[in-house]
Amino acid sequence: MDDCLFCKIVSGKIPSDRVFEDEEVYAFRDINPQAPTHVLIIPKRHIPSAAALTGDDAAVCGRLVVVAARIAQECGMADRGFRLVLNSGEDGGQSVGHLHLHLLGGRKLGWPPG
Ligand code: AMP
Repeated sequence: MDDCLFCKIVSGKIPSDRVFEDEEVYAFRDINPQAPTHVLIIPKRHIPSAAALTGDDAAVCGRLVVVAARIAQECGMADRGFRLVLNSGEDGGQSVGHLHLHLLGGRKLGWPPG
């Protein structure tokens, strides 16, 4: 997708603070962190949102969660805890139209979300 911000990050056209990368998944630090650790984990393949997911996306979605858990462990957050967030659509607060899983941690997080 030529006009997608996160596709441009995956291709390196826009710089990012990379945390992890493999064939399917890319992870980088959020530019506007909402917690001491705030990482975005995305599929390299363009998927617009959680609302657009199909059965063909099951494997890559599982991979996003596994990578998030690994990053949480590497950041030392596994014991105290962390949060995974997937915003979808306008009411869900999604501002970038490329599927992304937020990994948040390093402080006590409030609930319910706003
Ligand atoms: P959402 O609001 O769930 O769609 O999350 C989009 C996230 O992308 C926000 O937390 C933004 O701070 C983050 N973001 C936007 N542009 C960039 C960028 N160039 N590099 C890193 N994170 C970004």
